[in-house]
Amino acid sequence: MGRLLKIAIDGPAGAGKSTVAKLAAERLGYLYIDTGAMYRAVTLQALMDKVDMSDETNLTRIAESVDLVLRVDTNGNTRIFLNGVDVSTQIRTPLVSRCVSVVSQIQGVRHKMTRLQKEMGAAGGVVMEGRDIGTKVLPDAEMKFFLTASVEERARRRHAELTERGFTVAYEEVFEDIAQRDNIDSNRAMAPLKPASNAEIIDCTSMTVEQVVDLIVGRVSRGAG
Ligand code: C5P
Repeated sequence: MGRLLKIAIDGPAGAGKSTVAKLAAERLGYLYIDTGAMYRAVTLQALMDKVDMSDETNLTRIAESVDLVLRVDTNGNTRIFLNGVDVSTQIRTPLVSRCVSVVSQIQGVRHKMTRLQKEMGAAGGVVMEGRDIGTKVLPDAEMKFFLTASVEERARRRHAELTERGFTVAYEEVFEDIAQRDNIDSNRAMAPLKPASNAEIIDCTSMTVEQVVDLIVGRVSRGAG
């Protein structure tokens, strides 16, 4: 194994980033970091505290004060702890999904999350997944990928994933949520969703998970030299 690289995987909701990033990290022996889970945990805390989603001051205060820890469990799944409590399931509810893009637009929230994520990635040997990893969090990442797929295919995949996790939700609702989050995430002023200029864009609409993982691991193995 050569150098420990920083791998950035960005892309819109439902493109399969988490599945692909997790499998690629496993094959490389790297740490997998799901940055969306961190924004979701801040959103969950705001919902529990009944903070208005337009109250920037209090949302920033929450982001600054929460204790967030990411850990990998014995099955290789990432667990996220919010103030010491495992909230890995609660952060996936449709309510959190509906609110998270509003919370993640806020400058103070992004500053705190970006700072934490930069620290987590500093030593390399990470596959970090999100919206602004290649552009803002790890602009010096040696490998950057932007994973995308048609909105219909992304909604189909996310709907299947939610159903498997035990949530009952209509396909149309998932489609609407994804289209709305794409819109907010792509058009916000701070760190909008976009490929880094040196990212490789992978349209995985008709690719299998294995094909995408093979492509990424192949590039990284060659890059690590
Ligand atoms: O990846 P996931 O869909 O769980 O992300 C949830 C939300 O968190 C995104 O829709 C986006 O608003 C926000 N996010 C972000 N920057 C990241 C990761 C996620 O703004 N790096």
